[in-house]
Amino acid sequence: MVHKITLIPGDGIGYEVSLAATRCIEAAGADIQWENVLAGQDALEQTGELLPVAALDSVRKNKVALKGPITTPVGTGFRSVNVAIRQALDLFACVRPAKSYPGVRSRFSNIDLVIVRENSEDLYAGIEYQEGKAETEKLIAQIEKDTNKTMRHDSGITIKPISKFASARIVRYAFEYALKNNRRKVTCVHKANIMKFTDGLFLQVAREVAKEYEGKVLFEDAIVDNMTMQLVQKPEKYDILVLPNLYGDIVSDLCAGLIGGLGVAPGSNIGTEMAVFEAVHGSAPKYKGKNKANPTAMILSGVLMLRHIGENKAADNLEEAVKQVIAEGKSVTYDMKPDPLDPSAVGTSQMADAIIKKLKR
Ligand code: NAD
Repeated sequence: MVHKITLIPGDGIGYEVSLAATRCIEAAGADIQWENVLAGQDALEQTGELLPVAALDSVRKNKVALKGPITTPVGTGFRSVNVAIRQALDLFACVRPAKSYPGVRSRFSNIDLVIVRENSEDLYAGIEYQEGKAETEKLIAQIEKDTNKTMRHDSGITIKPISKFASARIVRYAFEYALKNNRRKVTCVHKANIMKFTDGLFLQVAREVAKEYEGKVLFEDAIVDNMTMQLVQKPEKYDILVLPNLYGDIVSDLCAGLIGGLGVAPGSNIGTEMAVFEAVHGSAPKYKGKNKANPTAMILSGVLMLRHIGENKAADNLEEAVKQVIAEGKSVTYDMKPDPLDPSAVGTSQMADAIIKKLKR
């Protein structure tokens, strides 16, 4: 069966890692027809828009996309093109498995965690009041009146909305993911002791949703600061973590560190109708065009995509090939060598070649 899938190469190292991933995905045996669309810096130069409507329409039509990283522009109307894509397509769940592969350079082994991050609200909702603006002054005056508290009038303000609806939706997604993937436990991560009306609500809703899964999936909660310490001390205690947007972003990078760094951490953004697969890492502009970036995170995002579209055989084939190349440790990029200056490190496309060679035909 031919699958029509949107490809957003992004910018920075996006082209290199996207090309490596599409070559590997095709060689793994999946029949894919890519629909290439621009977004990011190159789209801005060629079309005058950072996020052309055509890119979003292509994902709406094909329902599935593989996306490279996109640089966050400075001084434009967009806070982040990546956040804008997630919001425009209502990709409410950011799912990032953090799994160790033998041979990867890390202080930890046998990590097998899944981060389920709420993608649509929290401090990333983009509701901000700039310091010194009249509307900010008005809001500060209102807050002082309503709360009987004083605020510094030279403050900037970012609003943190957390709703019952979005909290229930993400927690339910985490539990359903646990059931489908035979996982044992969901841990709700929050700072409910301080932010009672936002994180407190997230936790309250999580506890209610958890009741529906009693006897099937274990549930517990943890305060985010303690969680970060626990994750580096006893990561084996955890399984699926469900978090509001900001903590999810930070804890994802921490978990990427546990499994060998950003070069190997895949991810996905899932909605009720659509899904966009992308690495956890960004556009690493300093490596753009240098054939240096590790393509593993993007290739493993491709593995997640293949599973999503039901191409499990191709997904297993590709994951196994990646595993073998990492375990051998020869044809890997600089970041996977004990010394990053090791002259035997290969480039992005050579690592993809080595993975393709290991695929079962
Ligand atoms: P980054 O992930 O781009 O890079 C941080 C560092 O991690 C790099 O300098 C490099 O040393 C390493 N790294 C990242 N990816 C690698 C790879 N594939 N192989 C080897 N090493 C790799 O993070 P940043 O520098 O904070 O962000 C750069 C830009 O990317 C910013 O504009 C940021 O907003 C954007 N960004 C985009 C996304 C996305 O598209 N989803 C995610 C994160 C950051």
